[in-house]
Amino acid sequence: MSGTAAMQTHVWSIPMRTRFRGITVREGMLIRTASGWGEWSPFLDYTEPAVVEPWLRAAEEAAAGDWPAPVRTSVPVNVTVPAVGPEQAHAIVARSGCRTAKVKVGEPGQTLADDLARVEAVRDALGSGGRIRVDVNGLWDVDSAVASIAALDRAVGLEYVEQPVATVEDLARVRRRVDVPIAADESIRRVADPYRVRDLEAADVAVLKVQPLGGVRACLRIAEEIGLPVVVSSALESSVGIAAGVALAAALPELPHACGLATVQLLTDDVVTESLLPVDGELPVVTPAVDTARLAALAASDDRRAHWEERLAAVREFRV
Ligand SMILES: [Mg+2]
Repeated sequence: MSGTAAMQTHVWSIPMRTRFRGITVREGMLIRTASGWGEWSPFLDYTEPAVVEPWLRAAEEAAAGDWPAPVRTSVPVNVTVPAVGPEQAHAIVARSGCRTAKVKVGEPGQTLADDLARVEAVRDALGSGGRIRVDVNGLWDVDSAVASIAALDRAVGLEYVEQPVATVEDLARVRRRVDVPIAADESIRRVADPYRVRDLEAADVAVLKVQPLGGVRACLRIAEEIGLPVVVSSALESSVGIAAGVALAAALPELPHACGLATVQLLTDDVVTESLLPVDGELPVVTPAVDTARLAALAASDDRRAHWEERLAAVREFRV
């Protein structure tokens, strides 16, 4: 722990259960004021102060206790199915309790037949009332996206397709050629991105993450201005960061789709007394209590803490 009387900082380090986004250990900083706690955990490959500054705004908003009032008491979330075989996919969905599954497709080295087998197993596990969305992480080209989306939709019925192609322009092209709604995820990373997606009519659904977009209130404004349904997604935070996503999802006037906030289980530990894990496919709208003993046990090494303090100083310098 360090900082002034007005604000303390704690840097934590938690191993991931499996490699995700190329990382095996997640690090972040909790900031604490008299009003509460906030999480600042920009990924380590984000080095520009201008990029990580909105992440800090989100943490400061949380620590100030400045979230809008919720309009619901729980938030439906999706289970995520990686590019695994059909038996494993079935098991992941069956034990999740979720009624919406996000299935990874388009994995390099795999075929459309692999994707079809996976989504069919997921449909079997969910039953006809469940929803299936697929996530391509931008890996298809326009023509293969159009063909694959039609085949997957014919097979199981799709809620939407997330980021079938890499660029916003190509998203707009695919969207004009398919009947399945398109969601923009990787195309929305910086504050100006949602407006570009809107202006090019590139998506039917916007995936928003609280930290990169500057906080709960900033995301609410974006949602209103772009006029698209929002799916709130995590940035692989601890439960303190996830709570900000839950606060956004709880405050949106309408929430037609399940959110991507069930990611705490990707970490091997947590910094709160009760983790934000889904029960029957929903997260409760609560602010979890920080467990200061756990936080101390998960404290990062001195050199990692020094690195985070340097990052923080760089953002503050950038703001001046
Ligand atoms: Mg995605």
